[in-house]
Amino acid sequence: MAAVVAPTSEPDPTAVPQSTATPQPTEPEPTTEPTPTPEPVVEVDFEEPFTLGVASGDPTEDSVILWTRLAPDPHNPDKAERNGMPDRDIPVFWEIATSTPDGGPDLVLLQGEATASAALGHSVHVDVQGLPADTWFVFRFIVGPYRSAPGRTRTMPSAGATPALTYAFSSCQRRDAGAYAAHRALVERGDDIDLFFWLGDYIYEGGPNAAAALPDRQHDSPEIENLPMYRNRYALYKTDPHLQAHHATRPWIVTWDDHELDNDYAGETSENEDEPGPFRGRRAAAYQAWYEHMPVRLPAPDSADWQIYRDVRWGDLAHFMVLDGRQYRDDQPTDGNFVPVPGVLDDPSLPIRTIEAEANDPNRTLLGRDQEDWLVNTASGSSAQWKVLAQPVFMHGLSIVPGANPPMTAPDTWDGYHGNRKELLGRMVDVENLVVLSGDFHSQSAADVRVDPYDRSTPIVAAEFMSGAISSQFPIPVSDSLLNLVAAINPHINHLGTANGFVVCEVNTDEMRTGFWSVTDVLDPNSIVVETSTYKVTAGTPGLDFF
Ligand code: FE
Ligand code: CA
Repeated sequence: MAAVVAPTSEPDPTAVPQSTATPQPTEPEPTTEPTPTPEPVVEVDFEEPFTLGVASGDPTEDSVILWTRLAPDPHNPDKAERNGMPDRDIPVFWEIATSTPDGGPDLVLLQGEATASAALGHSVHVDVQGLPADTWFVFRFIVGPYRSAPGRTRTMPSAGATPALTYAFSSCQRRDAGAYAAHRALVERGDDIDLFFWLGDYIYEGGPNAAAALPDRQHDSPEIENLPMYRNRYALYKTDPHLQAHHATRPWIVTWDDHELDNDYAGETSENEDEPGPFRGRRAAAYQAWYEHMPVRLPAPDSADWQIYRDVRWGDLAHFMVLDGRQYRDDQPTDGNFVPVPGVLDDPSLPIRTIEAEANDPNRTLLGRDQEDWLVNTASGSSAQWKVLAQPVFMHGLSIVPGANPPMTAPDTWDGYHGNRKELLGRMVDVENLVVLSGDFHSQSAADVRVDPYDRSTPIVAAEFMSGAISSQFPIPVSDSLLNLVAAINPHINHLGTANGFVVCEVNTDEMRTGFWSVTDVLDPNSIVVETSTYKVTAGTPGLDFF
């Protein structure tokens, strides 16, 4: 982390141009005053390093994390070891400025030096402190003659303040399945949207897919399983211009799901039930690569065990609990495969009764006991008006098995941990104005969350909104008969669909207005993205409300 220097007494009016800067190899920019913190002298024996853009995240009322990674040769599976960087630490200069909406000169507030550590893939995480609350900024990085494009970020309001907030969230951006029109649309919203929550599946770990919808966006290596391969995959994803632009537009608050490591993994159990020892090594590599590419306020991991669950607050209006739904899980019933339903999903080979016994067992856990206790204590003790769970898999339950107990369908979701869910939500019935966000399922939903989704005598504890995927596709065709069956036996679900896109929530002390934004043509990065349905949650009334 960089030391923070005092604000400049004579700000440099030319600092941080609004336009994307290009490297200026010989001539420094003219300045009217000397810069108080000199840019470090860097031996530049590498090419343009800012190929992966800039990002920011996890703001507080007086600080924010600024991120970049130096990678001149970012996605090269044949020589991904150092991605074009020398094998030594590199000093990186950063500066952050107030941002004037009229495009006038920005005033540098703070600047300093950070280290791009060779051991951490030359990633940079700067914890800039001492910033004014509830303010937008522009920032950039400088290494020798190279200047990054500027990024925009902001701080949270002060504790006690409750200014209105607009946040968005989404998940699941399989690169070869679709273009990133959703990210493009979120860039176009600019400062209208204050914060973006990412709920997992930032990358997908598999190899090339012969049936890819967009063959020119194929994965460029076999299934990834070690640190250089994970780095290469993040770099492949991050070179998408709309994804980079979205990171540079506002702070992100991110968690992970399964594909950042391995499809449907649970704790130390891999998709293919590999030996736990080697899988722990793979898990450590995946977690390190995630750290290296995410703007997170976390210490760097040094093993396969790494706590990423945490909370962020928008003053006293909204308190977000960001959950880890993978690291501490017991293995799913059926290893996470869909439960067969004769006539709907035809695979009669799986024993539903065993699944029920496992799902109902309250001794199995999705979050792990420590995270459960932290969640209950944080939500129960919060003074904020809204308590929001930012977490990967849907909690509201979704059945296509009439009459089963529990009537569950997708064991990788909270339905596979039905007894655990009942116990956990039973501890949170007194938490007012609780909202659950989810992703993972490549579908949109708006639903009430009951202590037991399938027992309407149990109380509603929250409203839940599940974002459509940015680009990933729902894995099976959805027929009208399937949708009708779902509607008939899931009255707690008000909206369900498989459109790609994101959700935008406008929050004040009285209500949370939620809009589902849907991508018209996911194969087209220029596709229009339109609001297709809206909901409301009213403070004091648990669950969905309607206009
Ligand atoms: Fe996904
Ligand atoms: Ca997932």
